Amino acid sequence: MNNISNQLINCPVFVYHHIKPEDEYMMFSTTAKKLDRDIQTLLMKGYKSVSLKTIFESIQGKNELPEKSFCITFDDGYECNYHLGYPILKKYNVYGDIFISTDSVGAKTHPSIPDFIPHFSWEQALVMQNSGLIKIHSHGHCHEPNNEMPSDLFDENVRTSLALIQNHLGSTDIKAYAYPYSEFNAQTNEKLNDLGFGLLMIACWKNSKEFLKQGCIGRIEADFDIDIMDMVEAFKCLSKKSFEK
Ligand SMILES: [Zn+2]
Repeated sequence: MNNISNQLINCPVFVYHHIKPEDEYMMFSTTAKKLDRDIQTLLMKGYKSVSLKTIFESIQGKNELPEKSFCITFDDGYECNYHLGYPILKKYNVYGDIFISTDSVGAKTHPSIPDFIPHFSWEQALVMQNSGLIKIHSHGHCHEPNNEMPSDLFDENVRTSLALIQNHLGSTDIKAYAYPYSEFNAQTNEKLNDLGFGLLMIACWKNSKEFLKQGCIGRIEADFDIDIMDMVEAFKCLSKKSFEK
């Protein structure tokens, strides 16, 4: 496989959020059992786990992605990622990239959100990162739509999150950013590119030329009720069409 569009067509990136211990389903969540089955299925079908770093390096032409590969990401930094997700990744020796909103690291409750989902701590983040399988990246400081923020506030929000991650976990070798609610525009992309971010993650069931030009990578929302191989096929088909345009 040589050109980058072919490589990206064959490398679906999944985004998970909350992981539940039992079969009790809700939006933006999966279960530990389903995550385990997703990964097991991909590996059995010959897909190789790659990290975002590997994807970034292949975009830069420094390496090539395997013929069939996949990348697992998680958003928001929920504590269940540490207790339920991380052990599954370790079991299969699979990479994971986690995007955190730094103002809620370690938060267990919220004064105005009764069903607030607890978030992992900096110590737990460090344990995961030290395993060599997990990388922690920025999802902004506060979890708000970035396209509605005045540009100075957006700038401060990104810089604060980056500084906190670097202080607690050390500097990162790639700068990746996930947009909260996938809300972005040309100005936010430009600002992040100026700040040195090479990968901007959005939720979208395809990769495309237009996205790639601005450093954006589409991610599949890995819903609890869709078969992982159906997601892979849909992603490949949509990406292929959009790269052919
Ligand atoms: Zn989020």
